[in-house]
Amino acid sequence: MRTCLNRSPSSRSFQDDPEVARQDPQRLQALHETMLLDSPPEQSFDGLTQLAAKLTGAPIVFLVLVDSQRDFYKSQLGLPEPLATTRQAEGRSLCHYSLLSHDPLVLDEVLDFEHLADVPNAQHLGVRAYFGVPLRDEHDFALGTFCALDTQPRQWTALDHEVMVELAASAQREISLRRALHEAAQNLRSAQAEAQAREQVLAAVAHDLRAPLTTIMLSTELLARELPAERRAQVVERLQGTAQTMGRMVDEILEPAKLPSAVVHALTPTSRLLDEVVALMQPIAQSNDVQLVLRSRPQLPSVKIERHRLLRVFSNLVGNAIKFSPPGSSVFLDAVPGHNELRFFVVDSGSGIAAVNQPHIFDRYWQADEDRRGIGLGLAIAKEIVEAHGGRIGVSSVLGQGSSFYFTVPATPAA
Ligand code: ADP
Repeated sequence: MRTCLNRSPSSRSFQDDPEVARQDPQRLQALHETMLLDSPPEQSFDGLTQLAAKLTGAPIVFLVLVDSQRDFYKSQLGLPEPLATTRQAEGRSLCHYSLLSHDPLVLDEVLDFEHLADVPNAQHLGVRAYFGVPLRDEHDFALGTFCALDTQPRQWTALDHEVMVELAASAQREISLRRALHEAAQNLRSAQAEAQAREQVLAAVAHDLRAPLTTIMLSTELLARELPAERRAQVVERLQGTAQTMGRMVDEILEPAKLPSAVVHALTPTSRLLDEVVALMQPIAQSNDVQLVLRSRPQLPSVKIERHRLLRVFSNLVGNAIKFSPPGSSVFLDAVPGHNELRFFVVDSGSGIAAVNQPHIFDRYWQADEDRRGIGLGLAIAKEIVEAHGGRIGVSSVLGQGSSFYFTVPATPAA
């Protein structure tokens, strides 16, 4: 509680012009951001005003917000008409002087202070005793005043002081809460707008993928006719696989609602799946001078998966491993059977991920500050797909030494 009772206006800087404080653009900005100007009366503020009137016995109590041209009474009790209805007044008021200080302005007899005795709004109300607590926000901008007035001179007591300061603090907390809510709503709106914009981009990209996809499909047919027979099957199969994967991606982006019924989990031999991953990613590894090594294990169980989607998980994990590996190094691909599941590993000896970043890497659109090459979507997509298969995904990584990503899928024991 503030204990300073300012009984003498000489103790505050009355040579400071309250008009200058009132017109401070930053203060006015903070005031407008409360969204309280011209808002209707509300019980949360009226309750404080009523309590202050009851406990101090003052006939007039109000919470006023001081705008550039007028005082707006957010809450009031005892103001005469038409002020009680219009809830705003122009011209200089004692409350403007409160904006100059952090301490309450406490006047037992207004007429004792010639600087204040002729303040128009005080004269108009016949104010003789005044108690005004400045309402300051968390950035110290004075937004207005919590006031008690009397039309008779009176000795404000220590209890009056305590009541007014405590209730003003409650009012200020309420104002700050409103502002925080307003800011949160604004942030939500801009996040929604951003999400919508991203969706539009995705839809556009998906749409534009159709053309190159068609070209690949046509080229595949051409190659099938013109390549020497011994190489034809391998190249064609790879191209067709890539085109099919792209086709599925386009469908997912353009028609996500149709997906659940379209997803088919088929029992797939793990070794065949891993061979397909290597065939898909080997050209990218080679062009980055990275060796993609498949650790072969006998007797791997089959997995019940949606093959195209699992290939996307691998292509994101292996693609990242290659991207973050130095030339000349190796990326290892492995599968280890566990209890009713199969655990796949993608291990690199590249840049690694700082411990502080590891909890965020599976978040959508997250990227390390030091790496802004992608859009931070690959791992989020991988996580979604793995979890849709009833599996888990994770990483262990040491900065500067490399990363080991793993994911699990439910497995059926090898026949
Ligand atoms: P993008 O879609 O942009 O490739 P991801 O979601 O795949 O992004 O990855 C998010 C971030 O995680 C990357 O920007 C990178 O900082 C980090 N990351 C992912 N994989 C690796 C890895 N193998 N080595 C080092 N950092 C990685």
